[in-house]
Amino acid sequence: MAMKHQFIWSVVAFGVALALCGPARAQDALGFAKITVGELTVTAFQDDSGRFGYGVFAGAAKEALQKAVESAGLEAKAGLPRVVNAFLVEGPFGKVMVDAGNGPRGGRLAQLLEAAGVDPSTVTTVLLTHFHGDHIGGLRDGEGRPLFPNAQALADENEPAYWLSGAGRAKGGDRAEEALASYVAAGRFKTFKGGENALPKVASVPLYGHTPGHVGFLFETGEKPLLFWGDVVHSSLVQFQHPEVTIQYDVDPQAAAASRQKIFAQAAAEGWLVAGAHLPFPALGRVVKAGDAHAWEPLP
Ligand SMILES: [Zn+2]
Repeated sequence: MAMKHQFIWSVVAFGVALALCGPARAQDALGFAKITVGELTVTAFQDDSGRFGYGVFAGAAKEALQKAVESAGLEAKAGLPRVVNAFLVEGPFGKVMVDAGNGPRGGRLAQLLEAAGVDPSTVTTVLLTHFHGDHIGGLRDGEGRPLFPNAQALADENEPAYWLSGAGRAKGGDRAEEALASYVAAGRFKTFKGGENALPKVASVPLYGHTPGHVGFLFETGEKPLLFWGDVVHSSLVQFQHPEVTIQYDVDPQAAAASRQKIFAQAAAEGWLVAGAHLPFPALGRVVKAGDAHAWEPLP
């Protein structure tokens, strides 16, 4: 596919060099990658990686999942590849993080920001796709202080309604509350209604199901729009071809699968660039039609 954009990549291995570790340690090589899209600069940060046990997925036989892993040339016993990404978008609206990774519980975003020369106090906004710990946990540092002391945190109004005062309270809501506390106390947490603009030129896109307020963020770039779609896909090896496969972290698995099918079709038809929290790092590419299903085409 002809690329109109000028892509500038700079991938920096973080920690021990891959070559020294061999393929078995590839998951530990965290890093960041920078790309220019129209008037925006996007940096992808790999906050965490590992494997999903097969048991967390529903709607496919374990053998089928193992086969998908093997056909990607990976050892199947350990499970499906798992990655957690967060993104920094720099543009006319300032410095915007999309999600914040795990934070003190297993995340490396803070170190990666430093390695990339980004001072977290210059981040103006943190857009949260939803309140799961691997997205909201990194709002704070190991001492409970805000990692982004001057940023406003924003989320769909359904998220606090569910996690902080609704049925999600007993299912991890305390962790979200902890991560958000200093922002709430400083009057720097705000909500929007699904579909409204989260920022000028940044529309929120309801992708409900994974959580009640799970949203994507569609950025105008001056060229093709760029959609950060959060947790639409947890396993690129499986769910592009089988969007009906769900994960146990879906609050409403049926609705999550329906949102996935719908946004696959829309992203493919519109030719949007897509970035995902759990797509293979650096997690930027396009959705393309592949027979009756879809496929992931990472940016080269
Ligand atoms: Zn997630």
